[in-house]
Amino acid sequence: MNYINGSWVPAKSGETLDSTNPANGNVVGTVPRSGKADVDVAVQAARQAFERWRLTPAPVRGNILLKAARILEERKQSLGELVTKEMGKVIAEGLGDVQEAVDMGYYMAGEGRRMSGQTTHSELPDKDMKSIREPLGVWGIITPWNFPIAIPGWKIFAALICGNTLVYKPSRETPVCGVEFTRAFHDAGLPKGVLNLVTGTGSEVGDALVSHPGIDGISFTGSCDVGLAIEASCGKLHKPAATEMGGKNAILVMDDADVDLAVHGAIWGGFGTTGQRCTAASRVVLHRAIRKEFTQKFIRRARALKLGDGLSAEVGPLINAASLEKVTQYVEIGRKEGARLLCGGKPTKGRGRGFFFEPTVFDKVKPGMRIAQEEIFGPVVSLLECKDLKEGIAIVNGTQFGLSSAIYTRNVNSSAVAERELQSGLVYINASTIGSEVHLPFGGIKSTGIGHKEAGGLGGALDTFSRVKVVYRDFSGRLQRAQLDTEAVR
Ligand code: NAD
Repeated sequence: MNYINGSWVPAKSGETLDSTNPANGNVVGTVPRSGKADVDVAVQAARQAFERWRLTPAPVRGNILLKAARILEERKQSLGELVTKEMGKVIAEGLGDVQEAVDMGYYMAGEGRRMSGQTTHSELPDKDMKSIREPLGVWGIITPWNFPIAIPGWKIFAALICGNTLVYKPSRETPVCGVEFTRAFHDAGLPKGVLNLVTGTGSEVGDALVSHPGIDGISFTGSCDVGLAIEASCGKLHKPAATEMGGKNAILVMDDADVDLAVHGAIWGGFGTTGQRCTAASRVVLHRAIRKEFTQKFIRRARALKLGDGLSAEVGPLINAASLEKVTQYVEIGRKEGARLLCGGKPTKGRGRGFFFEPTVFDKVKPGMRIAQEEIFGPVVSLLECKDLKEGIAIVNGTQFGLSSAIYTRNVNSSAVAERELQSGLVYINASTIGSEVHLPFGGIKSTGIGHKEAGGLGGALDTFSRVKVVYRDFSGRLQRAQLDTEAVR
């Protein structure tokens, strides 16, 4: 069901979509296939609710969000299992997906009592001045399937604490997670119309949201193709578009690294979530002195990974048939480009009928090859070689993306140079490219994003979902002119 103005309702057309388990094809749930007419009512509800929600004190908003976060926490086991069933990631990660939303909920609930502006001193007597934060209005929230609870959590808790109201469209691949996430807010007593859920496809619901005149801003996470199109549409309509898009992240392993630690990190970064993370480590750049040792250890670990249903395996399925096809094609592209396939490379049936693909490793990959440049979004890792820190950093930086990068080194000076020179929104030192925490901002540069951050407080999501208004109050009872009358004061 859609959730509009506090009620669970079908699509106006009565049409539905099935959501299936990528590990075995079983139907996980059936949701409305909505369209423009459904978006219209949801936007209308959100617009009406905005007038009260924006005037609800932020600490009171925070109390409701705290309740929603607690409900998500109470339901963590069942929601985590749902994530695994609908999206495919292994159960530990499914539970982590939920935990991230819980963490964000607690953090943002607290922001209700912070969310500070600035106060400062006027150059004139009997005058005070401050900046305050206010919501923008109604946001369209458009999310991908790979973190079906965490990413809505990042966006929705932050947008709501700022006083916005929302129309949320989850991915067509994981709408049941979207429904259950929304239910937590309903059960927490969120006033009607503040959060509305409309399920359906990107072209039918997403497009209608982006172009709707009643929507004041779009927060989108997903692919570059869709994100760039949304930025262009929003630009024409003069509405903010906060977009987080793809990545081609790399781990740089130096000659002085703890190689075993780097292997652990590269396995987690490359094959965690079956490589379907925006921060996945799909490239590993190896200093030539440790290349052989790293490669042998890495391959041994990659071959041993247990593939199957995420409820019991170490690597789950890809999301759908199109993704399986895409990954298969990239392996073919890699072969044709002259990279050497060291392991994997084929779809496999795993234990069910699902979209399983073997953990795959290429070496002899050159920085300009397509497999080293384009986002594959599957369990495929490219090994590249460098001769020193400078060349390694240049290779890491040599893609259009800029989300996450990592360096393994025991040399503090190398870590400092890497921290300064790596061109990405996130840098990890002696840790993999994944593992961000909710209380610092998250987001990429270059083609990954244009600087609106997710997560974090001030400097992060609060800057995205609120705007600053500056207030000057003159209580002198006479005309005072800034810049002009300051001499008299002196
Ligand atoms: P996608 O771009 O296909 O879809 C994302 C969302 O946009 C979905 O809800 C989809 O229905 C909607 N959509 C599709 N067409 C639309 C349109 N024309 N108008 C409006 N909305 C539309 O991406 P995906 O396959 O769901 O997710 C995978 C991608 O997301 C990868 O590229 C990955 O790197 C990226 N991602 C980025 C981050 C990040 O924070 N940078 C995080 C997670 C995923």
